[in-house]
Order: sequence, then structure tokens, then C-alpha cells
Amino acid sequence: MSVATEGLANTQEKILRENFERSGPFFLSRDLHPMLDCACAPEFATYKTSAGDIEAILDVPISVPFNAKLREEFFGGILFDRDQHRHFMVDRTAYEILREAAAGHCTGRELLHLTEHSGETGQGRQTLGSLLQNNLLGSLGTGSTVEHFAARDLSLNYLQSPIIVEVEVTYGCFRACRHCAYESSPEARMPEELTAPQWSAIFGKLAEAGVLIVQLTGGDPLFRDDSFDIVEAADAAGLSVYVRSDTAALNPQNVDRLKSLRGLWHVGTSIDGADAQTHDWMRGRGAFDMLRERVGVLAAAGIPVAAGATLHKNNHTTVREIGRRVTEFGAQWFDIGFLSPVGRGVNLRDLVLNEAEIRESLDLYLQGVRSGDYTPSHSHYVRRGQTAQPFADLTDLVDKLPYLTEWPFSRMRLDPLGSSYTAGKLKGSDFSGGYNMTDSSVAHIWDNSPNLAQLRELGAGGRIHSLDYRLLRSSHEFL
Ligand code: SF4
Repeated sequence: MSVATEGLANTQEKILRENFERSGPFFLSRDLHPMLDCACAPEFATYKTSAGDIEAILDVPISVPFNAKLREEFFGGILFDRDQHRHFMVDRTAYEILREAAAGHCTGRELLHLTEHSGETGQGRQTLGSLLQNNLLGSLGTGSTVEHFAARDLSLNYLQSPIIVEVEVTYGCFRACRHCAYESSPEARMPEELTAPQWSAIFGKLAEAGVLIVQLTGGDPLFRDDSFDIVEAADAAGLSVYVRSDTAALNPQNVDRLKSLRGLWHVGTSIDGADAQTHDWMRGRGAFDMLRERVGVLAAAGIPVAAGATLHKNNHTTVREIGRRVTEFGAQWFDIGFLSPVGRGVNLRDLVLNEAEIRESLDLYLQGVRSGDYTPSHSHYVRRGQTAQPFADLTDLVDKLPYLTEWPFSRMRLDPLGSSYTAGKLKGSDFSGGYNMTDSSVAHIWDNSPNLAQLRELGAGGRIHSLDYRLLRSSHEFL
């Protein structure tokens, strides 16, 4: 820990400060991986931080050259690129420059003038140059729009609202996988699941609160008759949409509906074996062949697919083969996770990987990344692969990987009734109590959920962007 970050009570605050120390005025952030998203996650190296040639743009109107959302935060802000679904953490100076540029009709000279009055001589010019050099600012005229969200309370030392909200549309699913954390099945729908219009109203609330991405999940979010109405409602609210589905519901007509969404980011799905025998043992007969066909259909439609493997004792040594297969099917990215003994997975306790097996899995996975067998959706794996000791920072954490929850500083989860909780792995436990989005605001839940508050306290000093749910106390102890 650096001197500048000593004494900060909040894990997220520490990590942000450390990252800014390493990156300069901004870095490309990634909150979307529940595991391993550590100190090396931000993309520092690919961004230039010199002042660049500002003189050339002094008399030119300047703005953000892509459709964007700009959120003010305690450390500065978040610039979200709606076209490429990427977000940058930006420091206070960069945020103020971006805010002025986004308001419109500022020339380079006016922005420079603004930075000269920021009280930090030289830093503003450097920041402006860096934003220009890296195309986060450019000459006006691209027709792009920037939506701005002012902070509601700058005294918060966590984000103003989630970056991503995971919505469990239904627990219904065409499958009943052996390891399902949600115990989903064709019979698992809840009678009181929210309707499409109710979800539409919630998506409006999320968008208004500055939430950037909605991940539609389940169960299978495409299991319901009105599933595509719900997907379209999320898109219509202006959210970036990530659909996580088994793909069994897809056909040429609804793939066209997905393709026509303005804000579709990608479809995520699962592969649990390099062959039908291994995959189908976990997910049911015929699942492998269907996966092959549906990933091909999505890829042919130009919809990016991210496939993830849940690794356990019977498939972890074949991780490279699994990745190669699904890449052949047409998946753009291949990622890994580890079997966790929750939900129906409690019956598979004996298959949960031990520390040595997790290390072996990670090494094998990286060998495949290095060899170009597949592409991880999380580029920090690429950077890890370029180092001599790619998991040196995880030495004390590897055995925790199957027990990590999602990152509580940037994510929130809603169940099919609209109730909030923090982590899919906590479904049905004492830890899953929360508020309901139908009658609460995003800010109220975000600030007051006891589970989110407790999760945010955990992990201090750790470098990992996810938290070990075994450390949680029962909700009853502090409610
Ligand atoms: S793991 Fe996914 S595909 Fe399998 S039953 Fe659960 S929700 Fe359905």
C-alpha cells in the first residue's frame, strides 16, 4: 500500500487511489469479473499520459467523440462509452474538463482556460492533452451525445449508484443443471415474478440513477413468453444490455430482435466440457449440440458471445480444450470460473477444486491465452500472461476463489420479484435480505442495504475485487 492510500477505510477507495497513482488522470476500468480482477485489472499501459499537442485544437470546438454517460463521483467521475460498452474512471480534473466539453461548444482554448483556473498548474494541461491523445475528447461534429449525472452526495466514499445491476428475470430455465446456484428448472418460476411493464418501470429508475449496464440473468432470462419484451424494455431505457442465457430459447426471429437492440453489449453463455459427455453430464442431454448450434447462430448474426466454463475436478485439466471448442463454435471470448458449493452445487461439494487444482487451472487457462487458443473477455488475463509470475498477487487468495461473491461497490442484484440482494451465491441464505425496487429508490437501496454495507467492510487490505461470502455474518445479527 502506498503512503497516499494509508488510512483510507474503504477498499474501493484505496484501490481507486492506487490506480490513479499508477495511471494518471484516467484508466479503463473493469468491474465485470467476479474473480481475479485485481491490481493489474485497469488498462494503464495502453493509454498515453503526455500533454500532447494542444495548440492544434485551441480554436476547435471539442467534445466527447462517442455516445457517452458521464457520472460524477467522489474521486472525479466515470465516463461510460455507450458505443463500445467500456467505462473509464477519471480523476477530478479530467471529470471537470469532460463535463464542460460535454455541455457543448467549448473550444480547446476555453477548456485550457478552465484547467488553468483549476489551481493545479500544469496538471490541467497535461490532463487535457491526455484526454485528447487517447480520443476521450475530440473535435465536435460526430453527432454523439453525452448524458451527465451530477453526484447526489459527494461525501459518499463509494459510488453514487451501481455500475451494473444484475436482474434475475425468472428462475425458470429450460435446464436443471447439477451445479445451478439458483436451483433453476422448467418448474422454478415464481408466481409473483414481476411483469414486463414492472421491469420497464424499474429499468427507468435504474437509468435515471445513472446505472450504466443491466445484466439480464436468471434462471434463463429468455425462458418467459415475454422475455424479449423485457430485454427490449432495458434497451429502451438507455441501458447497456448484457444477456446471460443458456441460449435454448433462441431462434432466428428472436435473434433478430436481439440484433436490433441499440444497446446490446453481448450474450453470455456457459460451456462445461470440451465434449458432449462432460458438458451434458452437468447440463443435460443434448445441451452440447444445442450450444454449438446457437453460438453459431449468434455469431452469424454478428452478436458477440462470451462463454464461461465452471471448472471442477472432472473438467479443469481440459480447460484449454473447452476454450478451443467454444471458440470454434463462434464465441468471441472464453472465461473461467470455479464450482461453488451453493444451490444445487451443494451436492457437488466433492468436485470443488482445491488450491493446487485451482493453480493448475489458472496456469492451463493462461497457457491457452498465451497460445492464442481463445481470447479472454477480461484483458487483465492477457497482461497476467505477459508476466513471469502471473498470479503472484493471489498467493494467499487462490483457495478462496470458489467462495467469492460479486463486487459490492459497483454491483447490485435484483431477484424475480424485484428484491435487492448482493450476490447470486447468497440466494436463499440469511444474507440475501434487502429492499424491493418496486417501492424503493436505487439510492435508498444502495445506501442502506445491510448486506451491501457489510460486504463493503470486508476484504480491507486485500487486493481482490470480490469478497469471500463465508466471512459474512448472518443478516439477523445486525438488522
Ligand atoms: S446453471 Fe444456468 S442453464 Fe443451468 S439450470 Fe441454472 S440457470 Fe439454467
